[in-house]
Amino acid sequence: APDAGNPLIGFEDMSLGYADQPILSGLRQTLAPGDRIGLLGRNGAGKSTLIRALAGDLEPLTGRIQRARNLRVGYFAQHQLEQLDPNASPVVHLQRISPKAEPQKLRDFLGGFDFRGNQALDPVAPFSGGEKARLVLAILVWQAPNLLLLDEPTNHLDLEMRHALNLALQAFEGAVVVVSHDRYLLESTVADYWLVAGGSVTEFKGDLND
Ligand code: ATP
Ligand code: MG
Repeated sequence: APDAGNPLIGFEDMSLGYADQPILSGLRQTLAPGDRIGLLGRNGAGKSTLIRALAGDLEPLTGRIQRARNLRVGYFAQHQLEQLDPNASPVVHLQRISPKAEPQKLRDFLGGFDFRGNQALDPVAPFSGGEKARLVLAILVWQAPNLLLLDEPTNHLDLEMRHALNLALQAFEGAVVVVSHDRYLLESTVADYWLVAGGSVTEFKGDLND
């Protein structure tokens, strides 16, 4: 592949943690354009910690993280939805995140994302948990990052919306790293897995059943 020598992100013997207490160490993974990685691991293993470091939201305790100059990250955090103002319209949220965004474009996109556009674009309608998740995911995909980081994106989504997200992710050409317990999402959008366990990360390929 032409980009094989130019990873988006490279870990250089990195450790991650909080208040000088390591959670993960000896990380040497690289992420290349177009990679599709599923992060697996038990509750508290460090999946969100790793995603935060990929997002540039958490600096390594030791070692380094190299980022490509052209890296553009879209980050869906595990607990970000509480931060959305339930009374603000999607247009307001989009303009906050991307000031030049045209409302019509957003409307078209959200429609294409099966957001039930008109209803959800009512500026005074509060959002449900699933509507907030749809909104954030729609904005992220619409912004066309080259690395999409999704930390449990389907938790609030109904089946129809999970399907819409799968289609959007299959069409997405950038790299994806996703934390999910949703086998349907993993099996339809992920090619390789990183197992987060025992304080480190192990890469493996292929089928969840192996
Ligand atoms: P889950 O599947 O439950 O989401 P996870 O694999 O995403 O778990 P992390 O959220 O990365 O796990 O947490 C890994 C460890 O780091 C846990 O022991 C957690 O208590 C600790 N931790 C997470 N965030 C912080 C923080 N802000 N300050 C201190 N410790 C934290
Ligand atoms: Mg987590």
